[in-house]
Amino acid sequence: MQRERVADDVFVFTSDLYAQVTAGVVVTSEGAVVIDTLAYPEETLAMRRFIENRLGTSVRYVINTHYHADHTTGTCFFKGARVVAHARCRTLLDTRGRGSLQKVKASAPEMRDVELVLPDIVFPDGAISLHVGNKTFNMWSTPGHSSDSIVCLIKEDRILFAADTIMPVPFFVDGSYDEMVASLQSLRNGNYENVIQGHGEIVLRGEVEERLQSDIDYLMALREAVDQALVGTSPERALEAIDIESCGKSRILLNGMAAQLHRQNVMTLAAQRREIMPLSS
Ligand SMILES: [Zn+2]
Repeated sequence: MQRERVADDVFVFTSDLYAQVTAGVVVTSEGAVVIDTLAYPEETLAMRRFIENRLGTSVRYVINTHYHADHTTGTCFFKGARVVAHARCRTLLDTRGRGSLQKVKASAPEMRDVELVLPDIVFPDGAISLHVGNKTFNMWSTPGHSSDSIVCLIKEDRILFAADTIMPVPFFVDGSYDEMVASLQSLRNGNYENVIQGHGEIVLRGEVEERLQSDIDYLMALREAVDQALVGTSPERALEAIDIESCGKSRILLNGMAAQLHRQNVMTLAAQRREIMPLSS
């Protein structure tokens, strides 16, 4: 696990064990706020030790940016904290999350102490502000990666925890392509000091706009390539041939996982486009 201090009171933790997933800790004058947890208990517990022993404080709130297990399984290690999320995050954790946790616990002994925690403060589509001591957490819905995705801006520091709305490769397989594009567009011109993506390296101030453009360009190129493949004579072969580089992203991102994510994007988008495109003759 890597730890970086991005502002006086803001820390980012990045997993060495699972897909460079990130989590944040913001220290306020009235305790700490955790934004997402890490996928494996040992890393979330190391984060907690840092908060308690090194920062000398305790966690009052945990924010779940969306229900996916790699971001939420550690919530249970912050007993007594209130948990904030989108309303759909609670529903999805209670259904899909509950089912997949049971399966994971049965096959992975290191996950045996994980318990499902449902958020107790939820908000519908739109925005909410949480005031804790001297810090303000502005959260709003940014569907696309998943229907319950939110981002969280630390207002005083202008640090945006973008979660999986910004990943090295935009990934919408559990969400919606159109909403992904719209959510990325909506993050433009935000004047952020740093953007913490859900996986991978921190995006620095000077790189943010270029990065959003690159993500939107990828999605545009992907749609064009998929549409072209679908009207050709052998669509399956043409879809197979759409590689990540031809859509403008590098395959080495996320230690090579990017190419797999891209492949899933291609198949998901092809299925969606087939439904709305007229059949070719
Ligand atoms: Zn994730």
